[in-house]
Amino acid sequence: MKSTDILVIGAGINGLASALALAEAGLSVRVIDSGPGGQESSWAGAGILSALPPWGYPGAVTDLIDYSLGLWPDWLSQLRQHSPVDPEYRPCGMWILDPADPDAARAWCAAHPEEGTPAAYPATYPAAYNASTPSAFWLPRVAQVRNPRLLAVLRDCAMAAGIDFVADNGLVDWATDPSGTRITAVQTAQARLTARHYVVAAGAWSQTLLGKLAAGMDVRPIRGQIALLSTPPGTLPHIILAGGHYLVPRQDGLVLVGSTLEDCGFDKGTTAEARSELLAFAAQTSPALRDAPCIHHWAGLRPGSPANIPSIGRHPEVENLYLNAGHFRYGVTMAPASAQILTDRILERAPQTDIAPYDWPVKAAPREALLR
Ligand SMILES: Cc1cc2nc3c(=O)[nH]c(=O)nc-3n(C[C@H](O)[C@H](O)[C@H](O)COP(=O)(O)OP(=O)(O)OC[C@H]3O[C@@H](n4cnc5c(N)ncnc54)[C@H](O)[C@@H]3O)c2cc1C
Repeated sequence: MKSTDILVIGAGINGLASALALAEAGLSVRVIDSGPGGQESSWAGAGILSALPPWGYPGAVTDLIDYSLGLWPDWLSQLRQHSPVDPEYRPCGMWILDPADPDAARAWCAAHPEEGTPAAYPATYPAAYNASTPSAFWLPRVAQVRNPRLLAVLRDCAMAAGIDFVADNGLVDWATDPSGTRITAVQTAQARLTARHYVVAAGAWSQTLLGKLAAGMDVRPIRGQIALLSTPPGTLPHIILAGGHYLVPRQDGLVLVGSTLEDCGFDKGTTAEARSELLAFAAQTSPALRDAPCIHHWAGLRPGSPANIPSIGRHPEVENLYLNAGHFRYGVTMAPASAQILTDRILERAPQTDIAPYDWPVKAAPREALLR
């Protein structure tokens, strides 16, 4: 296969968004994936475009999310020109009920009056929570997207942009020059591939596939399980976040009940305990869901990183190796901005935000810090 300007390793949302941004900048791009692409964390997620909650994270996370949310509407409308698939992007609003830190919630609402407000949870809503709920916060601008459909849109766009996508072609080894400061080729399951620049966007697998090139990064799989309920359309009008779990209603009545945060390696299995926990949460939060049939239950592996801060930048020693990974709980929300930052870095363009927090490598954090 002929050499390209860019080889992106991993075809989840961050690999595909990176590939598209780089192709749009005029570079020739190839994307490889060890599987069909777009079937891992990016497929499994709930598609909420917000931090959960927005007041609970360091500035490096909320700044990137804010930057990305500003890009989302235009990004999506450009993508939709090349695909017949509707990704169901919908600003449906989100209720946050009884947050762990109501003072921080109130302070955030005071600082962002258009984005959130303390409010009485309407007694008319079909939920166990009501006007007597001690603290409820309404975030009218929070949007959602339907992950599998968004990935289908991205694949259509990649094809339209002339990006060479090779499925079932996982990276197995790196070749460097004798000084170790330049990648000269990668060995995949099918071929030896060369490029000017290499971008690792392999989500939870990024650190493992980099091996000794991982250079201090700390990205590990954190499993999340989701149960899917079937209800009549309109049963639940908004996203609800309460006590660490959430309900996400899709337009056709399906309701996602999520999620767990489990540190169990690369095990993508589902468990009966998690299913019971999620269904109990749904029934308690919304009586209308008590008898809704659970039609699917799945798990995905988030690319867990310290403090939820992704790494988007160049390797400290290898000049043509880049990383766009470690987006942990917010990789869908952060995708447009992360692709932009990566492209600015590769093209050495002036960034539109402070990109220093996303330098490679990130420092290791205590393991338990990942489960918040
Ligand atoms: C249950 C759950 C709920 C979530 N909810 C939300 C949410 O509401 N909002 C939000 O913003 N985010 C959410 N997330 C997080 C979000 O899904 C992730 O941060 C994001 O999908 C990461 O995307 P990615 O492209 O980096 O990784 P992935 O989507 O995991 O893609 C990585 C790709 O790399 C490929 N790969 C692996 N090894 C190799 C190899 N050796 N060679 C080539 N390719 C390889 C994989 O096959 C895969 O296709 C959720 C995640 C989960 C699991």
